[in-house]
Parts: sequence; C-alpha cells; structure tokens
Amino acid sequence: MNSSLTLSLCTRCARRRSQVPQIRTRYPLSRYSTSTATLHDHPFRVAVIGSGPAGFYAAYRLLSKVSDVVVDMYEQLPVPFGLVRYGVAPDHPEVKNCEEKFTEVATSPRFNFIGNVAVGSQLPFQTLKPHYDAILFAYGAAKDRELGIPGEDAKKNVLSARAFVGWYNGLPEYRDLAPDLTAGEHAVVVGQGNVALDVARLLLSDVDALRKTDISEHALEELSRSKIKRVRVVGRRGPMQAAFTIKEIRELLQLPSVAFDAIPKDFLPPEDVVAKLPRAQKRLIQLLAKGSETNRSTAKKSWSLDFLLSPHSLHWSPMFPYRLSHAKFTRNEFASSDPFVPDAKVKQHFLSSGQQAQVNIPCNIFFRSIGYKSLPLPGFDHLGIEFDGRRGIIPNDGFGRVTSSTPTAEDTTTPLDHRHISHLPGLYCAGWVKRGPTGVIASTMMDAFGTADSIAADWEAHKSSSDAKISFLNSTSGSSTGLGWDAVRAEAIQRGLSPTSWGDWQRIDSAEKERGKAKGKPREKFGRVEEMLSVVR
Ligand code: FAD
Ligand code: NAP
Repeated sequence: MNSSLTLSLCTRCARRRSQVPQIRTRYPLSRYSTSTATLHDHPFRVAVIGSGPAGFYAAYRLLSKVSDVVVDMYEQLPVPFGLVRYGVAPDHPEVKNCEEKFTEVATSPRFNFIGNVAVGSQLPFQTLKPHYDAILFAYGAAKDRELGIPGEDAKKNVLSARAFVGWYNGLPEYRDLAPDLTAGEHAVVVGQGNVALDVARLLLSDVDALRKTDISEHALEELSRSKIKRVRVVGRRGPMQAAFTIKEIRELLQLPSVAFDAIPKDFLPPEDVVAKLPRAQKRLIQLLAKGSETNRSTAKKSWSLDFLLSPHSLHWSPMFPYRLSHAKFTRNEFASSDPFVPDAKVKQHFLSSGQQAQVNIPCNIFFRSIGYKSLPLPGFDHLGIEFDGRRGIIPNDGFGRVTSSTPTAEDTTTPLDHRHISHLPGLYCAGWVKRGPTGVIASTMMDAFGTADSIAADWEAHKSSSDAKISFLNSTSGSSTGLGWDAVRAEAIQRGLSPTSWGDWQRIDSAEKERGKAKGKPREKFGRVEEMLSVVR
C-alpha cells in the first residue's frame, strides 16, 4: 500500500481529533510501522482494568502480538500484582516469581501503570471511554461468598478467609481486622478448597518458620500469641469431591509437630475404585489414606478434614458472651448411590425420629472459605454490560469478548438463553471476572492469553476490513481519540485522585524491601495506602 500514512487519517479520526484537547502523546506515530497505522492516526489504545495475573498476562500477549498497541493498566491500589501480592500465601514465595515477568512487561515503552485509581467508582467510564479503542476487564473478585447462617454477621472472630488472607498479607482493606487468636484452642474452617488449606496451614505453622517470609508484622505478632491448637477443615461433601490439591495437602501433612486425624475408612473409596482413578486423584486419595506420621500424643497441634457436614449456626459462650464457643453443623448423606464420583450430590441426613442429624464442633474462631465473588463495576450500564450476578462474571463468549443479550421488547416468552447474543464492541474480559473465581495462576495466564488473542484478531480484522464489520469503542461516534491516559490524567487529577506510576511502585517496592531487611524478611509491606503514598509524595 502506498503512502499509508496519508491514507491513515480517516475522516472519523480527523473529525474526532479536532474535538479533543491536543495533548502530545508519549508514543509518537513514528514508533509504529506505516503498515500498522493504516486506519487510525493513533496507536491502538487498550485500557486494562486490574493488575493481577489476568491483566499482566493479557498485556504481555497484546504487546507481543500487536505492534501498534499501547496498554494503560489501571489499578485501584497504589501497587500492582493483585492476588499474587495479596492472596498467595507468604510461605509460597516461589509462586510470586511471576512478578518478574510482570515487571518485564512494565518496562515496555508501550505500557503505562496507573495505580491508586479505582475505575468505575473514582474514575467513571464516561471519562475513560472516549480515549480508548478497547477496555479489558481483569479486575478479579472483590468479595466472597456467604453462608447465610445465623451468627455469620458477628463482628468478632467470625471471618471470611478472604479477610484473614488479606490481613496476613498486608492488604490495606483488612489492616484493622484484628482477629483474636487467643480466644481459645479451636478453629473451624468451612470449605475444602486450597484457600481453606492456606488458612489452616498459617494457623498450624510454627511462627518462627513464618518470620522469614513477607507475612505482615501485625499478623506475625498475633500468630505468636495464638492459642489455637486444633483446626478442623469442614466440607459439605466427601473426600472425592474436595477442591484442594495434592501439593497443598502434602504440605499440611508434613508440618512438624502437627498431627492429622485419620479419615474414617468408609469415607474413602475401596482399593479397586482407587486403582481406576485418574493419576492425580489417585495420588490425592492415597495421600489422604496414608495421613501423617506425627503422633497425636506428642504433637503440639492437630487438624482434621471433616466430611458431609453443612454449617447450620454459630454459638457463643453463655458465660462470656463475646467468646464464640461452637459451630453447629447438619449431617449430610450422598444423594446418589455412588459417593465416589467427583460430582456426587448430597442431601440432609435425617434420624429415624425424623429429626435433622446435627453435630456441634468446638470453635473459638470461625472462617468461611467457600469461594470468592466478583461484582459489577459502577457504570456498567453506561457501557451496556449486563453483569451476570448469579455466576459472578461478565457475560462473554468464552473467548473474552463481552456479550449482551438484546431481547426485543415484544419477546417475553423465549428463554433468555435462546435470545440473540451480541458482542459489545471493544469490551473484553479475562481472569476471574471472566470465568468465575477458580483457577491457579497458570490457568489464569492461559485464559488471559485467549482474551488477548481475541483482541489481536479483532483488531487485525478491523484494520483489514473495508466495511469495518468488527468495530471497537466509539465506532459509531467516529473513533476513540487514542489519547488514553494522556487525556484521562487531567480529569483524574481534577477529581482529586493521586495516581501512582510504575516508578512510584518501584520506590514503594524498594522501601518495603529496606524495611524487611532489618527483620530478615524479603519485605515488610506497607499496610495502609497513606503509608505507600508517603513514600512517593
Ligand atoms: P486478581 O489477582 O484478583 O487481580 C485483580 C486486580 O484488579 C487486583 O489488583 C485489584 O485490586 C484490581 N481491581 C479491582 N477492582 C478494580 C477497579 N475498579 N479499578 C482498578 N483495579 C481494580 N494460584 C496459584 O497458582 N498459586 C497459589 O499459591 C495461589 N494462591 C492463592 C491464594 C489465595 C488466597 C487466592 C484467593 C488465590 C490464589 N491463587 C493461587 C489463585 C490466583 O491468585 C488467581 O488465579 C489469580 O490471581 C486471578 O487473577 P486475576 O487477575 O483474575 O485477579
Ligand atoms: P474453591 O476451590 O472453589 O473451593 C471452595 C470450597 O467451598 C469447596 O470445597 C466447596 O464445596 C465449598 N463450598 C462452596 N459453597 C459452600 C457452602 N455453601 N457450604 C459449604 N461449603 C461450600 O475456592 P477457593 O478455595 O476459594 O480457591 C479459589 C481458587 O484459587 C482455586 O482454583 C484454588 O485452587 C486457587 N488457589 C490455589 C492455591 C495454590 O495453588 N496453592 C492456593 C489458594 C487458592 P463444594 O465442592 O461442595 O461446592
């Protein structure tokens, strides 16, 4: 194609350009090959909302695949990395190695980090949208699921695993959580996923083993006072349906001076069934059957996996009304004849008298660990996004394109599933907000790559198709200004926001490492946003 740069100034862009303040972009056109700058006079601007693994892996893939893309990554906290920093357990430092890859991504001149800006609430989409060709939602799960049992809303020692994990990892939201680990010897964790095992392991670990990790100092202090000696991890189904994985179970079984209650034989599948299981499941069941070598009589602490129990209610001591005393559970039984299939369902177990079978478990601190939950961002209606509250995801086509059902007004009989589904131009999602709050970093990476590939393919098709079948943000009103953060910044400042840059994060990072050095830890995180900002202001 000849003189593509002249051709590149499409009328939509030219018109649009005259309407916006002309702020010089940090990425002059000369950076881009003429072959990639044929449709617009600006780079392909993508706003990524969230700086966890989904945001960073998608950014990495986009930057590698699309030569004219510029990624602006927005993060509500002044610091990056989402659950890698605030979820992954402090005694799993190797898992945090992905931060090195993310840091490499951030060195690209086509990448901007904009921290301390919560998109939707602090920065409305009306401000963001005109300046981007695409928005990629990768904002994870801001809440967790609730049990809905009496006592769950108590202020003291009835906690979500999300809050407790945030507290020991220095998440500002939970800096003042103040769990009381001295209230008694018994802890109960409801749910049998890997988060539940993280909580159990932290409670059972020798506090000296945690001193060399990046666990927050306030958590270390409380854990060193802890009186907890017994942790029960309770599931509503059986061992074959548990969500935890081998490595995490093995770690708990190998904790020094910690005993494990043997699982009653009839909960475990017979040998002929075990022999036919897929390899990973077979190893997990064998591990559970083998248990721990630590003797209960010599152990300092112990733990158990309790099965077929659903939480019913929480109870406080009549003598000390602020002291949680026990949790009541109802017994379940398998609804089908085969309790050893992974999707086996359960139902309540009733005694021959017709009464619900119940059991009380001593409990001085209670954790629910039954999964996280994503929420819609304020202003989604402005973008036409119909958040799926039941599944806790942004509706999408499985490849990361945000979809919308557009029922006609007169159609009230066709089930929603059968109504027309359309893509919302320029809107994409990745990670937990795309597929729900499950999956490890590796699966989140694959998922983010998938979404980035969709964006790259759509952009390519958009550029090469004359009838522009695939459109992006602002297509109907012309096109985006393509100015991205260069235009949004002024409005953010006007709104009183104090955005942090990647350089700011690097200074916070260095200060945290310096604070950690004195204590022999890799870092001592700042637990409050103001403390982080005071490093850079
Ligand atoms: P997140 O990591 O949650 O990132 C979302 C980001 O978006 C956050 O930084 C958040 O602050 C930001 N955000 C939210 N709202 C806004 C907004 N309005 N504006 C701007 N930014 C916003 N996986 C492993 O492989 N190994 C482990 O050991 C492991 N441990 C885990 C421990 C816990 C307790 C949990 C909960 C998960 C763990 N995982 C682990 C799973 C892993 O953390 C997830 O797969 C992954 O973090 C999901 O990535 P995400 O980017 O979708 O979400
Ligand atoms: P999860 O794996 O989905 O486990 C949730 C658990 O809660 C399940 O046992 C589930 O049982 C139970 N549950 C749900 N609703 C319940 C209810 N109403 N009553 C009782 N129990 C209920 O979620 P997670 O533990 O939060 O973990 C999220 C993801 O992060 C997972 O993919 C996990 O592997 C990952 N992660 C990984 C690591 C690691 O690699 N080390 C560490 C932490 C987290 P049912 O099956 O019966 O619904």
